[in-house]
Amino acid sequence: MSSHAPETASLLAALDTQPRVRAFLTRAVESDRTSHAYLFLGAPGSGKLDAAWALAQAIICESHGCGTCEACVRVARRTHPDVHYLAPESVTGYLIGQTRDLIEDVALAPIRAHAKVYIIDRAEQLRADSANALLKTLEEPPRGVTFILLGTSSETILPTIVSRCQCVPFRLVSPADAAAAVARATGAAPERCRMAVAVAGSPQRAVAFLKSAERQEARRVMVRALDALPHADDLDILNAAKELIVAVKAPLAEVKSTQEAVLSQNADYLSRGALKQLEDRQKRELNARERSGIMEVLASARSLLRDVLVVREGIADGITNTDVAEVSSRLAAKTDTPGAVGALDAVARAERAIARNSTPQLTLEVMLFAIRKALLCR
Ligand SMILES: [Zn+2]
Repeated sequence: MSSHAPETASLLAALDTQPRVRAFLTRAVESDRTSHAYLFLGAPGSGKLDAAWALAQAIICESHGCGTCEACVRVARRTHPDVHYLAPESVTGYLIGQTRDLIEDVALAPIRAHAKVYIIDRAEQLRADSANALLKTLEEPPRGVTFILLGTSSETILPTIVSRCQCVPFRLVSPADAAAAVARATGAAPERCRMAVAVAGSPQRAVAFLKSAERQEARRVMVRALDALPHADDLDILNAAKELIVAVKAPLAEVKSTQEAVLSQNADYLSRGALKQLEDRQKRELNARERSGIMEVLASARSLLRDVLVVREGIADGITNTDVAEVSSRLAAKTDTPGAVGALDAVARAERAIARNSTPQLTLEVMLFAIRKALLCR
């Protein structure tokens, strides 16, 4: 595969654990014959979202995703104005307003690149009303527009959508394979890679996590909050939730300033209505980013509490967060197995609440109170 380098470097790195998908997409990109609509199908952790961002890089970059040019760097930082990420904004799925905005945005010319890419996450949540509006655009988008839809299985997605996309199946990746891929990409120690996969969810995101001081700090804030819980009073818990929100928002400063720059670049020639729309979309993107940051600190909590359970069960070398082994030992000494299980339940409830768009700070507060209660109830 090294004969492809440096072209399609982004695809090669993102799809380390999906060789068949990698060969298929690399061929399409190198022959300039990418489809206008892809549907990536696979279980959580199969790396679909990473692959979508890598394909976006390959499409936007002048040299098929070199990974180093300005366009590639912007896409990698999720700050390229021509690559859009969408996730459902209500409990029941995508809002009609979301797809309407999307269709209007598709018609606008690209801002920086020669092409535009729309990544549509959780395509199963495109229900009939919002999906119907999208079908015509999905079938015949303007030149240079590519849709990448993500879903778990084609059975759960509207057939009218599936039939308009090129389906790309992803295989299930084991955590060990994922950690090995992260080790190859970063050269980091195996136990750090295992932890990063547990926290970030997929190999590519784990690699980015290991490169982000802010995201690692957010995890540390969560670990400290859990460590302090057995002795925390109510005010301590409220403060811990506040501190977590600040930590999660820290990596978003760059996104915000890029958004402001895009807005002011467009202020002169976009109509007020179009500007308002751009602003709304930016707010949504920022909101989605914050939520994925919250999900990541929740995953940090889940992983650490699972270690507590592992220690309680006496599985000596089974823990994932070896860098903070003393924290899981301390917590394990304060609780019993039902306590650890109850704490994990509290994290699962928080994850569901965030997926339903609950307020992040309130969700974290409720979760920390519930974990304290669970851990100390023995
Ligand atoms: Zn590039």
